[in-house]
Amino acid sequence: MTDTIPRTLVDSWGRTHNNLRISVTDRCNIRCFYCMPAEDVQFLPRQELLTFEEIERVVRIGVTLGINKVRLTGGEPLVRRDLPVLVQKLASVPGIIDIGLTTNGILLAEQARSLRDAGLKRLNISLDALDPEVFRKVTRRDGYEKVIEGIAAAREAGFSPIKLNAVSVRGLTEDQIVPFGQLARESDTIVRFIEFMPLDADSQWQREKVLFASEILDRLTSAFGPLRPIVTDLNDARPTFTDQSTSSHAEAESHTPLLPLARASRAPAQDFEFVDGRGRIGLIASVSQPFCATCNRFRLTADGKLRNCLFSLEETDIRPLLRSAAKDEEIAQAMLDNIAAKREGHEINTARFLQPDRPMYSIGG
Ligand code: SAM
Ligand code: SF4
Repeated sequence: MTDTIPRTLVDSWGRTHNNLRISVTDRCNIRCFYCMPAEDVQFLPRQELLTFEEIERVVRIGVTLGINKVRLTGGEPLVRRDLPVLVQKLASVPGIIDIGLTTNGILLAEQARSLRDAGLKRLNISLDALDPEVFRKVTRRDGYEKVIEGIAAAREAGFSPIKLNAVSVRGLTEDQIVPFGQLARESDTIVRFIEFMPLDADSQWQREKVLFASEILDRLTSAFGPLRPIVTDLNDARPTFTDQSTSSHAEAESHTPLLPLARASRAPAQDFEFVDGRGRIGLIASVSQPFCATCNRFRLTADGKLRNCLFSLEETDIRPLLRSAAKDEEIAQAMLDNIAAKREGHEINTARFLQPDRPMYSIGG
């Protein structure tokens, strides 16, 4: 790279991007209804997946533009063979200070130790229910016991605290909230409740199915007493309700008010602790309280497309660049251009919203 002017991934709204989420596969060993079709999924042919070397090159170039954090995701990242090899490659890229992984946990018992040894720092395990029957309804597959074994193996390998991601869906997972709260109070587990987003493969998403973060907070408060927000970076604190005059806003406000609430740095989760000091939870209110204004992430799909937002309708294909004689500079420019074109927000709460063609499993959540 010959350019001596420092360049960063800043969009036209002034947001700087340092966080790259990398999908390593679109394959998965379960079929969560909010992400994948139940049957007959068309997966990418293997040769269309970026190789580990190609991913590493993208990260090295990204570092010159300010990337310092990466998270591996998918599909299910642990179905990609030799994933610890990729973790090790990325951990050795100078400038990368944090590597995370989001997994459904089914294959974690076998891989937790080698991932840790390879340099994985942070692990999020997705588990939407503590009741095996509800787990089966959500995932349309067996595997609950394997996830529980995976969580135990992660703890044994030294991942702490354990972070669980639980998508909350009205009519399906309400009765899981209190058991998850109990788990958070009894162990070093942080449960992060995620609002159901319109990224499912069958376009079944409806606003009525979103269990709002404020309702989740209400249920936890009724069961265990009050919670208070945790603010880790006061300098970066900001209110989280954006001015969205929508029904979701009105509904959300009829519950425990989250306003004014400061966010821990630029993370999407709002973290809370029970005031008696026992237990911590997180709320990812992507629908009712979008955090687009502080977004610092962009994505690389398993087939080499850059996406500046989960809900992007456009993407930048860098695989042809990676597989030709293109210089690093050209790939860097593609990244800069992709970020420059980022929209202000996802617009889920507007009539203009269009669900992207790619469902979650093929984007990388
Ligand atoms: N397979 C891995 C897993 O499930 O953890 C990684 C990929 S998955 C797409 C990443 C995260 O996105 C998971 O925590 C999953 O629950 C979440 N997710 C998938 N579809 C979603 C949706 N429609 N709304 C909200 N979260 C979703
Ligand atoms: Fe697979 Fe993760 Fe999607 Fe569930 S959310 S189907 S585990 S990729």
